[in-house]
Amino acid sequence: MKDIRLIENLKNTIISLDKGEMPEVSDLVLLLENYREPEIFGFARDLGREKALENYGNNVFIRGLIEVSNYCTKNCFYCGIRCGNKEAQRYRLDFEDIMNCCESGYNAGFRTFVMQGGEDPVFNDDFVCRTVAAIKNKYPDCAVTLSLGERSYSSYKLLKEAGADRYLLRHETATKEHYEKLHPKSSSFENRMECLYYLKELGYQTGAGFMVGSPWQTMENLANDLIFLKGFQPHMVGIGPFLPHSQTPFRDFPKGSAELTLFILSLVRIMLPKVLLPATTALGTREEGGRERGILHGANVIMPNLSPVEVRKKYMLYDNKLSSGAEASEGLEILRKSLEKIGYEIPVSRGDCLK
Ligand code: SF4
Repeated sequence: MKDIRLIENLKNTIISLDKGEMPEVSDLVLLLENYREPEIFGFARDLGREKALENYGNNVFIRGLIEVSNYCTKNCFYCGIRCGNKEAQRYRLDFEDIMNCCESGYNAGFRTFVMQGGEDPVFNDDFVCRTVAAIKNKYPDCAVTLSLGERSYSSYKLLKEAGADRYLLRHETATKEHYEKLHPKSSSFENRMECLYYLKELGYQTGAGFMVGSPWQTMENLANDLIFLKGFQPHMVGIGPFLPHSQTPFRDFPKGSAELTLFILSLVRIMLPKVLLPATTALGTREEGGRERGILHGANVIMPNLSPVEVRKKYMLYDNKLSSGAEASEGLEILRKSLEKIGYEIPVSRGDCLK
């Protein structure tokens, strides 16, 4: 049984996040170190859920995820499609494939399409602009989200002008020294952060995010991530547990904790009440029912897979990544029913950020 004063202190740290204040790093670290305390875990979950309901009601927005290419010039140590993985079976979708995904997604009720891929030079500005413009032209009531990694300011600008509404670029960790342990020397922490500020400046609804439990991550690193998010004020935050991939240098590191991921989801919802917060595929892969638990902790977005079935197994960022059942667009009814059971529904809506 923990000291009653400690529990009160931890609750006060959560309450200060709710008031829009930013606690000291040491208070955040103490909070994160004690996330397993049932009273604290439950307090954050209930408040996180209440904030999501206050802002977005019982809606869970769906995004149709189109994994457009698993070619990547980068070599992030944690990623299954890093260029150094010579065993990965590579593919890329063409214009027609992507338009076909959108058509089936639109008919199923999706009003956001997410084009996600590695940093593939074939997805140059001309190709991506043409594709985004075609999607927006055919489906003017839909949002297009891009998640194509680090690009130049001028590239982001062209894509925005072509009609892209949102951009996801996880910062991965807000601590430079930690970033450098997760990436080879050719990846720059400063450039990644700069890209995020470019995106915001260009008017994208911008998404940041990070893994929980990545190798060498400390509670100080996670506290830094929260402080960064508070300052950056993203529209979206993607958070999932670290899951190892057997063909990467991080193959032997343990999985990140689902419980800590859930706790951090609640804290992010409390701190950024209007943010769009996915219950990620990684969370659903880590633990059965993980995504539903994510919703009950304050998440309000799910991203089912719209990619052609034959390529899904090739977009393996980590081992055993889910891509069927309720994870897939064709499993939307399963997803709808599982959300109904916990009191939530899926609207036919773009689901924009309220900010
Ligand atoms: S995490 Fe992204 S940028 Fe890094 S190797 Fe994987 S797909 Fe490429």
